[in-house]
Amino acid sequence: MLKSVAYILKKLDEGWGKLRRFYLVHYREDHVQRHLTLRRGECRRCGSCCRLMFRCPHLGGENQCNIYTCRYKQCIAFPIDDRDLKYLRHTCGHHFVNSREVEKAEAVR
Ligand code: SF4
Repeated sequence: MLKSVAYILKKLDEGWGKLRRFYLVHYREDHVQRHLTLRRGECRRCGSCCRLMFRCPHLGGENQCNIYTCRYKQCIAFPIDDRDLKYLRHTCGHHFVNSREVEKAEAVR
């Protein structure tokens, strides 16, 4: 019983993340651009972000996106910031650096 409650809460949290990303890419482009400058690493094409809350209907075999060339803005921008990696820290090829570290490194140059 507790396990299923935890599962439902996780799925709801993942759904909230989807809504949050939708809002950010459409109404807070400044936030998105600022955080993307702190993103490092690269996509491993693991497809994990395409399974948040539910399996995306556009996800094909071998984690291929069937609408890749015209995929949604929130998919292009994933992960927008560290909050998006809450459940994917060990699978996603991206990570975020601390903005203070970036400022320090730029000050040294
Ligand atoms: S979870 Fe990260 S590495 Fe995996 S497909 Fe999505 S962006 Fe790429």
